[in-house]
Amino acid sequence: MRNFVDLHIHSTASDGTYAPADVVAMAERRRLAAVALTDHDTIDGLAAAQKAAAAFGDLIFVPGIEVSAKFPQGTLHILGLAIDAASRDVAALCRQLRAARDDRNPRILARLREMGMSIDMQDLHEVLGATPAGRSESGRIIGRLHIAEAMRRKKYVANTKEAFGKYLGNGCPAYVDKERLAPADAIAAIHRGGGLAVLAHPVQLKYGNTAQLERMLRQLIHDGLDGIEVYHSDHSDQQTRLYLDLAKRFKLAITGGSDFHGRGKDYVFLGRPRVPLSVVKQSAPRLLGN
Ligand code: AMP
Ligand code: ZN
Ligand code: FE
Ligand code: FE
Repeated sequence: MRNFVDLHIHSTASDGTYAPADVVAMAERRRLAAVALTDHDTIDGLAAAQKAAAAFGDLIFVPGIEVSAKFPQGTLHILGLAIDAASRDVAALCRQLRAARDDRNPRILARLREMGMSIDMQDLHEVLGATPAGRSESGRIIGRLHIAEAMRRKKYVANTKEAFGKYLGNGCPAYVDKERLAPADAIAAIHRGGGLAVLAHPVQLKYGNTAQLERMLRQLIHDGLDGIEVYHSDHSDQQTRLYLDLAKRFKLAITGGSDFHGRGKDYVFLGRPRVPLSVVKQSAPRLLGN
């Protein structure tokens, strides 16, 4: 019996270090019931992952994406789960998100240069190239985790955590915001692409107290939100219980995942925390098909 799922995973299509087919194979080795690929701002890995999953008869593959949206404080990421990879609306969304990154990355590098850290696009391509992508580097999503890894290689920082803590994190000197969609627009794009819109890692919203989190949730539900990522590697047991309670009260779909990035975040493991298949299935029957 396969009893657990992982519905939040990154691959080399964005800032993970394992190729799409490899993360699917890892999910199979862990005997997961279902696995979703949710790369930042791209669906480029979905075809390869889907193909790999088809070879494993008992593993359900859920095509997904992770989109950042505008938010006054903290981080608002929305997962689009069970999206249609062939949707023109999803393709248009990805083009828009990629353009925002192309505008932002050089500005981050300029800030770092001002602080005496010389990282150029060539360095970033070396970071991408060192991963077993098996596909053209130029098409890949480049983000802050790649920049952090380039900084580590040049010994400006000891590890990527330090890079975020001192320079790249929200509010730090080399932080540059990127053009983001309003939550309602991100959710609408996911819906047009046939997907379920799920609030990723609610802990990262940086709400002050439960009442404030509830207000944020109500607003997002008004914007069309379908579900909440109750289980996530960043959540304490207490937080998980709170999100589970809120999900039930607001009748939201319940999902969860590791947010696995491979070697880029060596403290996160595929399949952890355990996300019960039964809970996801009951709250979101159409998410896992049949
Ligand atoms: P980006 O999409 O380019 O803004 O970068 C997002 C990536 O940076 C995701 O993989 C995040 O998990 C990672 N990230 C953001 N903040 C931190 C942090 N404080 N420490 C480590 N990784 C982070
Ligand atoms: Zn990431
Ligand atoms: Fe995220
Ligand atoms: Fe993620």
